[in-house]
Amino acid sequence: MMDPAEVALYERLRRGGVSERTLRAMAAAPRVLFAPAGAEDRAWADEPLALPAGQTVSQPYVVGRMCDLLRLDGDERVLDVGTGSGWHAAVLARLAAHVWSIERHARLSALAERHLRDAGIDNVTLVVGDGAAGLPARAPFDAINVAAACRHRVPPALLEQLADGGRLVAPVDGHLWQIARHGDRLRRTRQEGVRFVPLVSDAG
Ligand code: SAH
Repeated sequence: MMDPAEVALYERLRRGGVSERTLRAMAAAPRVLFAPAGAEDRAWADEPLALPAGQTVSQPYVVGRMCDLLRLDGDERVLDVGTGSGWHAAVLARLAAHVWSIERHARLSALAERHLRDAGIDNVTLVVGDGAAGLPARAPFDAINVAAACRHRVPPALLEQLADGGRLVAPVDGHLWQIARHGDRLRRTRQEGVRFVPLVSDAG
């Protein structure tokens, strides 16, 4: 039996337009397993949760929207920037073939590793480093998810590592942007307003 609060959360996201496939992926990576100790009772609220190091577990509606914007079919190789608790990466992992997720705080990456193990998710590779540089050794990626706020532009390295036909989603200056690559051309579409903790990078 699912917690009624969990059912209510998915119903709220469904009304907001999140797809059934993404809702099933969320149910298969329950957010309560990624909630910080002591915050389990707020896991089913549609709001961010505080993590160590001043970071947050993202809001469920925003995670749902971002997953839908990546249009994943199940066979994609995905790059996720900003692992945090690992929850967003876990939902992506239920929607795609493999996820590489980068986090700059080693302590958060270690926490995420524990959460992913508890959730029984084995198709996420965690990397500690600067996600603004992407992961050139594993590129190109069919989908790239940026879970930290970019200032003015998406880091160019990430756009370079996006496969032909691939999609990227990122918060830039307060809005979500969906960027699709068609050969050398990028098609950018602005989506709803969102708030994220900043992407912190030395890569410029
Ligand atoms: N996706 C997470 C929430 C992300 S919060 C979840 O589901 O819980 C944003 C995360 O991005 C934070 O953990 C922060 O430490 C990380 N971050 C910020 N700048 C980064 C960078 N340049 N490279 C990798 N991670 C970064």
